Amino acid sequence: MQTDNNNKPDSEKPKTKNFIYEIIDEDLKTNKWGGRVHTRFPPEPNGYLHIGHAKSICLNFGIAEHYNGKFNLRFDDTNPEKEDQEYVDSIVEDVKWLGADFEDRILYASDYFEQMYEYAVALIKSGKAYVCDLTPEEIRATRGTPTEAGKESPHRNRTIEENLDLFARMRQGEFDNGTKTLRAKIDMASPNFNMRDPIMYRIVHAEHHRQGNKWAIYPTYDWAHGLEDSLEGITHSICTLEFENHRPLYDWYLDSLAIYHPQQIEFARLNLSYTVMSKRKLLQLVNEKYVDGWDDPRMPTISGYRRRGYTPEAIRNFAEIIGVAKRDALTDISLLEYAIRDDLNKKAKRVMAVLNPIKVVLTNYDGEEELGAINNPEDPEAGTRKLKFTKELFIEQSDFMENPPKGFFRLVPGGEVRLRYAYIIKCEEVIKDSDGNIIELRCTYDPDTKSGSATSTKKVKGTIHWVSAKYGINAEVRLYDRLFLTENPGNKDNWLELINPNSLDVIKNSIVEPSLKDAVMGDKFQFERTGYFCLDSKFSSTEKLVFNRTVTLKDSWGKKSS
Ligand code: ATP
Ligand code: MG
Repeated sequence: MQTDNNNKPDSEKPKTKNFIYEIIDEDLKTNKWGGRVHTRFPPEPNGYLHIGHAKSICLNFGIAEHYNGKFNLRFDDTNPEKEDQEYVDSIVEDVKWLGADFEDRILYASDYFEQMYEYAVALIKSGKAYVCDLTPEEIRATRGTPTEAGKESPHRNRTIEENLDLFARMRQGEFDNGTKTLRAKIDMASPNFNMRDPIMYRIVHAEHHRQGNKWAIYPTYDWAHGLEDSLEGITHSICTLEFENHRPLYDWYLDSLAIYHPQQIEFARLNLSYTVMSKRKLLQLVNEKYVDGWDDPRMPTISGYRRRGYTPEAIRNFAEIIGVAKRDALTDISLLEYAIRDDLNKKAKRVMAVLNPIKVVLTNYDGEEELGAINNPEDPEAGTRKLKFTKELFIEQSDFMENPPKGFFRLVPGGEVRLRYAYIIKCEEVIKDSDGNIIELRCTYDPDTKSGSATSTKKVKGTIHWVSAKYGINAEVRLYDRLFLTENPGNKDNWLELINPNSLDVIKNSIVEPSLKDAVMGDKFQFERTGYFCLDSKFSSTEKLVFNRTVTLKDSWGKKSS
């Protein structure tokens, strides 16, 4: 994302014409923010980031980049019981990996707690906030209904002095959890529930990952968020649609304090098919070991996609393709798969790997030779390499059929097929063990059919991949399928029962071409005909290569090794 767009005139910059850009264009015209554009991404550090967060990061950073503005990474760390440094660290890594540049601005809401406290005191002093002794349950019970006003708290009309005293003592830790709150004094009859004297502070005796035990009170999201935006000089505070009803409160707090007032703008969150996106559900998948951690390659997390071999470019393209809307919808996961294929097609080195091997012995071939192969037909710079061709080879079990259906153009008894970059071979004999399992194919090769040579004129319908049995390397290959069996599992109460039991298929004894012994973490490969692969950062080692399939070559879920 670090392009030189900033040096180009506006008209030449690539532009996603979504409605937020239109708002900002208008603001620049009217000079509403003195020409500034400043956005932020405000995660709560209570989980790892997922693809929905990636959409928000791309949107917010993309805007800052486009308008030559600024982008903050701000941790909304106002809820000590659920937050952790591990999450902070993973979020920083993921945002950087995506290419969103926050410069030196890693900011924390908890750094503003003192200032927020003072703003709360100011609201108390202007008669706009009060300490309430009702429990959170009692507050909920007296909120009223859509057609009925809520009940005013019996403590609503405390004196300013009494409120100041009680609030100071709440801060000191004098009261137990849940025994008091600070509430804004707005309107218990408002048609908007968020305006019915909302809670600003709760008493929480808990250790905060950055503040330790300094605080016994913690601000609510609605109270804190606008203050954070205001203190950082954010111009456009972009959030998801569920906060639309909270905007009047966002505005009320900032107007009541008469402080710098950013504009909140809502957009539709990303929902992706065949997965869940709520952090609570993702945490449950991790804790209850349905997956192997937050970075399991089946998870919709940024770290999971990274481990699986997705690229930041592909994820950013995906964010661009899906655009930004004002209405919630379910995005088809195949769009994400399209974006990753499109990117890897340009970048991935082509190699040959046999996932489920069966041995081929060429009865009329002796010795060995090196054959030329193209590393990436999409990238002339990628060059060529040599493949060792030997008497014994492996081919894919699925490329041979003893009793083929009509239209099967690969190897059959008595039939011919071309070995990629090599020769046409003919299957002469099928060797079976005592149980009738095929263990070896005896074949002959036709020396006049060497790929690329002038004498090679024979044509066959099928070409298959292979690896030399003598030089090939053993590897484990991990194939992933969708994590859930239904399109929208997040909507269902029994979502855990909808997990795809076959979402991971581990093949222990694959054979890959010898060039792969030099593979390093982060390299992208296309295993010809079987998909895009990368080394697995958790299980692969110098002793044992372990590859993850990033994505199949085309939309052929279920036909895993065809
Ligand atoms: P929760 O509120 O349950 O902790 P969250 O996913 O909203 O979950 P946050 O850490 O508050 O978590 O999210 C950080 C930012 O990412 C917010 O601005 C939020 O609007 C945005 N965001 C979260 N989920 C999505 C999504 N699915 N699509 C787009 N943006 C999202
Ligand atoms: Mg949230």
